[in-house]
Amino acid sequence: MRGLARLPICVQYGTNPSVGPAVVLVNGFFRMRLLPELIDNNRKWAETVSQTDPDFFPKLAKGQTPEFLWIGCADSRVPANQIVGLMPGEVFVHRNIANVVVHSDFNCQSVLEYAVKVLQVKHIIVCGHYGCGGVKAASENHHVGLIDNWLRHIRDVRAKHSQALDMIDDDDDRLNRLCELNVIEQAHNVCHSTVVQEAWDANKPLAVHGWIYGVKDGLLHDLDVTISKPTEVAEAYRVATNPIV
Ligand SMILES: [Zn+2]
Repeated sequence: MRGLARLPICVQYGTNPSVGPAVVLVNGFFRMRLLPELIDNNRKWAETVSQTDPDFFPKLAKGQTPEFLWIGCADSRVPANQIVGLMPGEVFVHRNIANVVVHSDFNCQSVLEYAVKVLQVKHIIVCGHYGCGGVKAASENHHVGLIDNWLRHIRDVRAKHSQALDMIDDDDDRLNRLCELNVIEQAHNVCHSTVVQEAWDANKPLAVHGWIYGVKDGLLHDLDVTISKPTEVAEAYRVATNPIV
C-alpha cells in the first residue's frame, strides 16, 4: 500500500460521462480509468460540503462518535444515511441481504461489538423494507446456490410464523408481513446477542429498534418493537408478532 501511494500518477478525470473513461498515466504507462463520472461526482460533493462547512472534513478526520448503529438490507434503494437525513459520521452501518442478524455471523457481531463497546452508540436500528428481494426469494422455494444457506434464516422466520402468514390471502400483503416479521425477529436476535446483553447488564443506555421502509413512498415505519432493557424483550416480541386478523 505504501508503494502504491507513492506512485507518480497523472490523472485526467472526465467531467462528462459521455466522453468515456479517462486515460491516466501511471509510472510511465497509460491506463484506462473507468467510472470517471463517479470520481467527478465525489469531487463536486466534497467541494460543496467543504464550502458549506469548512470544518466538516477536518472534524471527521479526528474520529467518529455516531449515536446510531444501522443494520439494514443491502438493497440499493435503502441507503441508511440518506433516508434519515444523517451526514457521514452520524450513523455506523452494517448491511447484508435482508438485514439478517445471526449469532454466528462474526461480521455482523463484530460490527455490533465495535458499535456498542467502542463507539458506544445509544440506538441500534434494524431496518428492513417492503418488497425485499431477499425475503421474497426466501418465501419462494427456488434453490439458487450458496445464498440458500443465508436465506434459510428467513425461511425459519416464515416457518415460525406460518400460521399467521397463511391467514393473509393477498400475496403482496403476505410478503410484506414476512418482511415485518423478519425485522422483528432480527431485532430480537440483536437483543439476545452477548454484546447487547452485557451492555444492559452494565446499565448502559442502549435501545434496539425495528423499522421498515417503503420503497414505494420513501417512508419509514416504526414497528413498535423498541426495547431498552432485558425485561422488555419478551413483551415487545409478543405484541409485535401478534397475528393480524
Ligand atoms: Zn432487501
